[in-house]
Amino acid sequence: MVVGRKCRGRTKNGPCKTPAISGSGFCRWHDPELEAERKAASRRGGRMRQVTQGAILLKDIPDELTSIRALSRLVEAAVHGLWKDKIEPRKALALGTLAKHLRDLILDCELEERVARLETALEKTNEPL
Ligand SMILES: [Zn+2]
Repeated sequence: MVVGRKCRGRTKNGPCKTPAISGSGFCRWHDPELEAERKAASRRGGRMRQVTQGAILLKDIPDELTSIRALSRLVEAAVHGLWKDKIEPRKALALGTLAKHLRDLILDCELEERVARLETALEKTNEPL
C-alpha cells in the first residue's frame, strides 16, 4: 500500500482528499479504470430514483450519499415513506440494505484515511532529526 498518497481527482470543493487506491493514483470514485463500473452503478441509481419518484420526497435525499448524515436522511425518508404507505416495503428494505452497504464503504474509506494519516505521522517521527 502506498502510504499517505491522496487521490489525484477533483471534487466540486477542490482536490479529492480520499486516499488513492494503491497503484492507481485515484480513489474508487475517481479511478478512470472504474468508470464503467461507476456508470453502471449510476444507471442503477437513476432507475431507483425513477421508481421511487413521488414515493419518497426526493428533496430529502442528498445527491451525494457520501456521509453517514446523508445516509441517515435517506433511511429516514424511506422510513417515512413506508410509514405513510408511500413506498413498498420491498423498496424500503432494498434502500435500507443499500444504505448499510454505503455506510460500510464510507466507514472503510474513513478508516483508510485515518490509517494513512497515522502511517504518515509515524514515518515523520521515525525520521532522523
Ligand atoms: Zn478521489
